[in-house]
Amino acid sequence: MEENIEVIFNGFFRYKNGNFYAEEKRVEDIAKKYGTPCYLYSYHSLLSRIKKFKEAFKGVNTLICYSVKANSNISILKIIKEQELGVDVVSGGELQRALLVNFPPDKIVFAGVGKKDEEIELGVKKNIYCFNIENEDEIEIIERYARKYRRKVICNLRLNLDIDVDTHHYVKTSKKETKFGLDIHSASSILKKHRNNKYVEIKGFHLHLGSQLKDIHPYTKALDTVKIFCKENNFSPEIIDLGGGFGIPYSSYDRVKDIEDFGVAIKEKIKEIGAKLLILEPGRYIVGNTAILLCRVLYVKRRQDKNFVITDAGMNDLVRPAFYGSHHIIIPAKKSTGEKYIKADIVGPICETGDYLGKDIEVPAHIKRGDILIVGSAGAYCFSMASNYNSRPRPCEIMVNKNREFVIRKREDYKALWAGEL
Ligand SMILES: *Cc1c(COP(=O)(O)O)cnc(C)c1O
Repeated sequence: MEENIEVIFNGFFRYKNGNFYAEEKRVEDIAKKYGTPCYLYSYHSLLSRIKKFKEAFKGVNTLICYSVKANSNISILKIIKEQELGVDVVSGGELQRALLVNFPPDKIVFAGVGKKDEEIELGVKKNIYCFNIENEDEIEIIERYARKYRRKVICNLRLNLDIDVDTHHYVKTSKKETKFGLDIHSASSILKKHRNNKYVEIKGFHLHLGSQLKDIHPYTKALDTVKIFCKENNFSPEIIDLGGGFGIPYSSYDRVKDIEDFGVAIKEKIKEIGAKLLILEPGRYIVGNTAILLCRVLYVKRRQDKNFVITDAGMNDLVRPAFYGSHHIIIPAKKSTGEKYIKADIVGPICETGDYLGKDIEVPAHIKRGDILIVGSAGAYCFSMASNYNSRPRPCEIMVNKNREFVIRKREDYKALWAGEL
């Protein structure tokens, strides 16, 4: 049951003579210099993902807006901006990050089920490209600020089409029992009501269906439904914002359709609908497999029926296994040939039974205190979900470019834990 890690890392992270490398940097050297736990990104891996995504959607007019919540580090945002992508933000804080990095306002789109008045005001004031609307009352708030700043604000209606997708129930966003989007009846009445609104112009629809989608048909089904909806409502959408959700392999056994295949099918549907602009909001696809988490083995607990490897990274550093039951590969930084393996649960130091990074993971039989382990696919929803639970400072983030490394976020110190407390 050997993982083919090439499928996950595309050669940007790999073993060379038994040592694991990020580009041209040996990860054990990074762990030694900067300590653990530590997030480690590959610059060229990030560039390559952006390029692949852009190429898949060539041929239609697109605005690709990276979803900031997947990873909001400003160095990563800066690289994404240099590649001429826009951003999808879901809070005032994410909008401030995007502005800090100087994303052009006309490449910023704002989504979210609970936008506060002041967040909406900031978006209108900064003249962002559009808002994705999830509630009729939101339009009135936008209108209020549009009037104040004398603007006409573009809005897309986020539709909840009750489409089921094959992913974890926590990351399905298009079933009718989820909180997201407008049902088609509300959308229809909003379209009629605001047809001649002087301050708010509804140009189309937003359809983020969920995350880590491995197949194309939820997208094509959603677009078919939108097409019928438009016909019934006598409305020609200028914009279709399909959201994100494009899946990535977390293991070489994961079957995920190539992004080119998503591109072909989606472009065809967009042409059928006749929309002038396709907005896409990839998060995980762009950053998910561009990083790893390095952690150090603190203790090995061998019991008769079970082995535990206790590492210095826990659910506060990387919560996805504890939160969603997600699988990440966990492999040693040093590997020798002909080695025996045992199965173990890889767990963190947090005082919670749910605190684990992996269950029944194969680790070298001689694994010991001090060894470095690598958690794969740690670029999306990993650092951005990290917390200070158990009063643990958050890890540092480092980016490797060939044989050079850059600290893109310092390790938090203890003082950071209580900064702001009175
Ligand atoms: C989370 C989110 C995305 C990104 O999803 P990925 O699965 O990471 O591609 C895009 N759009 C919206 C509105 C989101 O909430």
